Amino acid sequence: EGSEPTILIPGKVHPRVRERVEAEFAAVAIETADAALITPELAASIRGIASSTRIDAAFIDALPNLEIIAHFGVGYDPVDAGHAARCGVVVTNTPDVLSDEVADTTIGLLINTVRELPRAETYLRAGRWASEGGYRLTPLTLRGRTVGIFGLGRIGRAIARRLEGFGVEILYHSRSKREDVSYAYAESLKDLAERCDTLIVIVPGGPATDRAVDAEILSALGSNGVLVNVGRGSTVDCDALETALSNGTIAAAGLDVFPNEPKVPEGLTKLDNVSLLPHVASASQHTRNAMADLLVDNLAGWFDRRRPVTPVPESGELVSTRH
Ligand code: NDP
Repeated sequence: EGSEPTILIPGKVHPRVRERVEAEFAAVAIETADAALITPELAASIRGIASSTRIDAAFIDALPNLEIIAHFGVGYDPVDAGHAARCGVVVTNTPDVLSDEVADTTIGLLINTVRELPRAETYLRAGRWASEGGYRLTPLTLRGRTVGIFGLGRIGRAIARRLEGFGVEILYHSRSKREDVSYAYAESLKDLAERCDTLIVIVPGGPATDRAVDAEILSALGSNGVLVNVGRGSTVDCDALETALSNGTIAAAGLDVFPNEPKVPEGLTKLDNVSLLPHVASASQHTRNAMADLLVDNLAGWFDRRRPVTPVPESGELVSTRH
């Protein structure tokens, strides 16, 4: 009592994060990560943040004794990790523990998209099987496809391993060619889109990938093309996608992520050739609990021995020099 570091919980967090932070630290909750909510007393006491929300530079600046931001999720684009590093604040994320779940969901979304399984189920539930006969034969199939993976990182490789079992051809693009895989490497996203008919987006969000999948990439994918986005909504130009789906530039899309969640562009919800999920790729109790544990283990590792389990690359120097 009194000696544990004080951890701030801004906004909503997974219940296991809240329970463990309350049990292992002194916890303070506030409505949102807004610098205007930081009283002088909080500014003095807060040494860590546990959150899954946006943490900007102004909020970091409002907490002079902040040492660590433990983010819930592998994609930490909501956190200004560069500013944090310049202020000597470590940022951690939750890699690996969600890769298999996200890869499973990606395969499900891909098959839903090409084989129209959600629409077939809606057809059954509406009683149309009995009244109208079998659901239509799907114009699309996974058979014979060439899948291009945009981002062959932890999750991208888990997706590729699964796809090997489907007998499809696999290529990828990332900024650097990997020496530990035998899949064909495409030098650019354009090159990848030209050489595949099924594009899976699993790169991080942020400025470097902002609207990387635009009208030109979609047209390179072609009229048999299928786009699956499980990375970040910001990576796909949504207006260009809606146009491409409407006029047959590509055949279909499966989306788990959107630019302005939880809002979904109304035009997309009106199209039949798109399968939509509400950002559920990692959303099982099993995997979210593992993410919650890793978040709190990062806080514990930092405050026990200056060793967080999974610091983000921007924090690398802080962690190796500060123990
Ligand atoms: P990794 O960091 O392991 O992999 C990222 C991959 O993207 C690497 O292959 C990297 O290779 C490549 N990459 C990064 N930036 C670029 C760029 N500008 N251009 C081309 N390639 C790039 O991350 P994970 O696989 O663990 O996670 C990937 C992302 O998936 C997360 O950042 C998150 O946004 C998203 N995600 C979405 C989820 C959901 O619920 N829908 C759940 C979990 C994650 P290189 O550096 O060589 O370019």
